[in-house]
Amino acid sequence: MRITVFTIFPELIEAACAPSILGAAIERGLLDVRAVDPRQYTEDRHRKVDDIPFGGGAGMVMMAQPIATALDTALASEESRPRIVFLTPGGVPFHQDLARDLAREDAIFLVAGRYKGVDDRVVRAYATDEISIGDYVLSGGELPALVVIDAVMRLLPGALGDFASAEDDSIHSGLLEVPQYTRPREFRGATVPEVLLSGHHENIRRWRRRQALARTLARRPELLARAELTAEDRKLLREIEADLDAGRETEASGGTASE
Ligand code: SAM
Repeated sequence: MRITVFTIFPELIEAACAPSILGAAIERGLLDVRAVDPRQYTEDRHRKVDDIPFGGGAGMVMMAQPIATALDTALASEESRPRIVFLTPGGVPFHQDLARDLAREDAIFLVAGRYKGVDDRVVRAYATDEISIGDYVLSGGELPALVVIDAVMRLLPGALGDFASAEDDSIHSGLLEVPQYTRPREFRGATVPEVLLSGHHENIRRWRRRQALARTLARRPELLARAELTAEDRKLLREIEADLDAGRETEASGGTASE
């Protein structure tokens, strides 16, 4: 997959794409991330990419021309028209389903705004998608672009050493992920739930499913409405609800060494 980010701060994208799993995926050729600076395409002799807003008001607006020319130049080397995503707080909330959808593309363009945002005429002319990463305002679209890149990269076959770990991730499976523990068995007096040390695979599977359901019910109940639940899940949920009614703990907290 090829991802091209249009940004006046290409170094932000390049720096974040070097290390870790993302860097390894790029190194292995699963993903190619390129940053294009619209400033390189401005027709203004002072290399300006922003101007004052029509109608007045504080702040500057990113001019249409440098972004449009940068997009046209990049489009000329694409065989088919890629998805062109503008990152904006006014866009569709980013979600795992959208990440899955984007992961099926051969090429994606991500346009990162700055200042008060991008001249709307360029958005109308090119955008196939407008995406928000949440209800807060950042100074630029580079971090949102990196959020999209990272979420999409995790879904590319072979990107994670163990692809099953993406399948188990919170949200991806429809439920929040279960609490995880690693060695040592005891840390500052806190122990690991006994069942995880039992080696009994069926009990562990059932415990994990129950934990995922209990955690999702407690923290993100709206996800349950969309999740694909089996008959066993529904039975576990009834047990969890009965525990809650009786004031019993439903989420794992491990134990203490003295217990
Ligand atoms: N005035 C704009 C508004 O209220 O919609 C915000 C502009 S913001 C300071 C500058 C740029 O940061 C935006 O053009 C967008 O690319 C990016 N940005 C900021 N917050 C974002 C968010 N929550 N999701 C996606 N992009 C965001």
